[in-house]
Amino acid sequence: MLYPWQETVWQTLLDQHARLPHALLLTGEPGIGKLAFARHLAQWLLCESHADNKPCGVCDGCRWFLAGNHPDYRELTPAPEEEDDEGKVKKKAAAWISIDQVRDLNSFVYLSAHRAGRRVTLIQPAEALNAAAANALLKTLEEPPAGAVFILVSHQWRRLLPTILSRCRRLPLPLPEREPALAWLAEQGLDDAGSYLAEAGGAPLAAIERADAGMLAQRRAFLAELADPRQLDPLALAERLDKQKTEVARVADWLSRWVHDLARLGLAQSVRYYPDEITRLDALASKLDPVRLMRYHDTVIEAKRLANHPLNAKLVFEQLLYAYQQAVRPMIKG
Ligand SMILES: [Zn+2]
Repeated sequence: MLYPWQETVWQTLLDQHARLPHALLLTGEPGIGKLAFARHLAQWLLCESHADNKPCGVCDGCRWFLAGNHPDYRELTPAPEEEDDEGKVKKKAAAWISIDQVRDLNSFVYLSAHRAGRRVTLIQPAEALNAAAANALLKTLEEPPAGAVFILVSHQWRRLLPTILSRCRRLPLPLPEREPALAWLAEQGLDDAGSYLAEAGGAPLAAIERADAGMLAQRRAFLAELADPRQLDPLALAERLDKQKTEVARVADWLSRWVHDLARLGLAQSVRYYPDEITRLDALASKLDPVRLMRYHDTVIEAKRLANHPLNAKLVFEQLLYAYQQAVRPMIKG
């Protein structure tokens, strides 16, 4: 899939198809869709229908690619590192692509291809290659076996080793113009797209990420109040939600998912929507009556259905929160 603002550069790349280099470096701002472009190119290279301007989406090559198991395709990204924390092995997000990952890659690159003869490797972000890994990759880039294609993606290409840069052709991907970016964000249903887009420096995907992050903070604050029903003040919370202009549908979603998780935790010891809230859910769930919770859940769903454009959102919030307190209160002692 390409984003609308990538069509022109895609066409430019196709026009040079005959001279496509074995190593292409896609550069540009974070949040403009470089990875999507890189995957689109990889799929096109592995597409077996030889459609002339985009991957067909239906051949064996495309179907394997889309299912994530094409035998002639690899993605190299920083692998989570295992960290030993006082006897407990924890996974932590890695910052680097290691030399071991590059060595593993070589065994793939130098094998003969399973299908049409191309083996495609996507490396992202390329600046995550540490020095040893970059040097190991360099040997392969200098004398690539026939059919091997490398697509490197970089947010900060100036940080790459000059020797790596000299082996790649750089293709800068554009930041979209403001108007098409706003139109696309509106299609995605983002409110207040202009300010998020500005804050993200014009990068549409980064704008969406920012909007989600803002919503995440609001959601967490809201759930923190639900987690302590005895301290919950429905009037004050309803007023705050109203002032923040939080939509009724969104609050109803938060409430219904929270209650669903509470009930599910009581019945099946698992959660579906809010694994990041497991501590709070756990503290509350054991004290509650799942049947009563599910009845309240139905109330929330009904309120959401009725309240597409409520005249008085604050009143709806108050009612939902009072009912929540009723649903959880009788079981809580002290
Ligand atoms: Zn295809």
